[in-house]
Amino acid sequence: MRRLITCGHVIAYRDGAHRLLRNGSVVIENDRVTHVTGGPVDGAFDQRLDLPDALLAPGLIDMHAHITSAPFDRSYVEDVGKPGFCFSGLPELLPAMGAALDAEAIRAATDFSVAELTRNGTTTVFDIGGPGDYTAQAIERAGLRAWIGEGYGAARWRTRDGKRMSYDWKPDGGLPGLDAAADFARRIDGRANGRLTGLMSPMQVAMVTPELLARTRAMAEELDIPVTLHTSEAVFEVNEMIAREGLSPIEWLARQDLLTDRTILGHTIFTSGHSWINYPGRDLEIIAQSGASVAHCAWVFARRGVVMESFARYREAGVNMCLGSDTAPQSMLVAMRMASILCKVADRDSRRASAREVFDAATLAPARVLGRDDLGRIAPGAKADLVIWDGLGLSMTPLRDPLRNLVFSAQSDDIAHVMVDGDWLMTDRRLTRLDERQAARGLQDAAERVWRNMGPGDWAGRGIDALSPPELEAY
Ligand SMILES: [Zn+2]
Repeated sequence: MRRLITCGHVIAYRDGAHRLLRNGSVVIENDRVTHVTGGPVDGAFDQRLDLPDALLAPGLIDMHAHITSAPFDRSYVEDVGKPGFCFSGLPELLPAMGAALDAEAIRAATDFSVAELTRNGTTTVFDIGGPGDYTAQAIERAGLRAWIGEGYGAARWRTRDGKRMSYDWKPDGGLPGLDAAADFARRIDGRANGRLTGLMSPMQVAMVTPELLARTRAMAEELDIPVTLHTSEAVFEVNEMIAREGLSPIEWLARQDLLTDRTILGHTIFTSGHSWINYPGRDLEIIAQSGASVAHCAWVFARRGVVMESFARYREAGVNMCLGSDTAPQSMLVAMRMASILCKVADRDSRRASAREVFDAATLAPARVLGRDDLGRIAPGAKADLVIWDGLGLSMTPLRDPLRNLVFSAQSDDIAHVMVDGDWLMTDRRLTRLDERQAARGLQDAAERVWRNMGPGDWAGRGIDALSPPELEAY
C-alpha cells in the first residue's frame, strides 16, 4: 500500500526538531513514512489525498493514562475535596469508586476510552493499571499503539477515619503481582505488528519496598521495557516518605537506583521547592541527572487547585518532560493546553511553556524515553502515526502558526483523519473501527450501575451523592 498525502501545512521533523513545511507531501508505504518533500512527487499511489487547507501533524503520545477507569472521574471528582488531604482525590474519592467498578464497567470504560483517545488525536497511549488482557484486546481492536502495564505494589494505602492514611503491607511483598505483570508484558510484547509493548509499573512510591523496586528494575532490563510509577503526587505521600525514610520520594527512588533513562515518573508535582511542601532539596537536579522522564498531567491537578511549579522550571533543569491525561477527558489537547497555561500562571510569565514546548512534550520527549526515534514525528523512516487537522475548522481558522492553534484553540472536532501504523482509524471525522455511540451508551449504563453500588469502598460507607453532592438540586 503506497499513499501520498499533500497538505497546506505539515509539521515535519528534521535535524532534531519539528519544522513547518508549507505545501508539503508525505509518502507512506504500508506502516511507515518514506518520503517528505515540499516538491512534486512522482509515481503510482494506491491513495492520494490533496488537502490544501489541512494541517498534517504527528499523532499525540499520552504518557500517563488509566483507560480502564479514567472515564468514571467525570461527573464525580470535580468541585469536591478535603482540605486535610490538601484536596487530593486519592484517599477518599478514588477508593470509593474503585471498589464499585465491576468487570463489565471496566470493559465499558476501556471501550469508551479507545474511542475517546482516537477522536482526540492520541495515537500512542501509555496505560497503567489493568486488567491488561482486556486493555490489550481493546487497543488492538481500535488500532492504537500502546505500552500497557498491570500495576502492582507491596502495600495498599487507605484512610480509616477520613483524616489520616494508613498502609496495609502485603505478606508476599507484592512479588506475585510483579511476576504476573512480567508475564503479561511477555504475552503482549510485539503483538499487532509491534503496536503493543509491555511496561513495569509498581504503582506508587509509598507502596513499594526496596526489594520490589530492585526486582522491577531487573525485570524491566531483562524484558527491555520501561518502568513507571506514581510519585510526589500528594502532600500526604511526600510527608509519609519524609517521615518514613527521611528523604523526599525522589531522593528515596534515586537511592533505590530506580531512576534511569527508561523510567517515567508519573506526576512528580510536589518536588523540593514546591510551595505546598516545606522541603528543601534538589529533586529536579536528581531527576535530570538520572535521565528519568516526568509524565505531567496538568489537568488532574488543576482541577484540585494544584499546579506544578513549574513545567518550564523542570525543563530548564534538564528533565525530559512528557504529558499525560490521567483522568477524563483523555485528551492530549487538554493536556498540552493546561500544561502551557498553568505554567504561565504559576510563573506569571506569558512566554513560559510555549506551544512548541508542550507539543514536544506530547511527541518527541515521549519518543525519547520509549527509545523510539520512529514515533512522535513525521520523517522518512518514522511510523505513519498521523493526524490531519481541518485548517478551516472553527477553532483552527485563521491558520498561520499551527502549533499555537493546536495548543491554544483546537478542539477534537477539528480532527478530520487519524492514521496509526498506516491504517486509517478516522476518516472524514468518522471512526473507522469503533462505534463511539455504542461505547458511550455502554459507559452510561455501566456508570449508573456503579454509582448505585458505591459505599462499600468508602471508609464511612457513603454513597455517591454524599461523596459528591450534585451541583443542582432536584426540580
Ligand atoms: Zn495515574
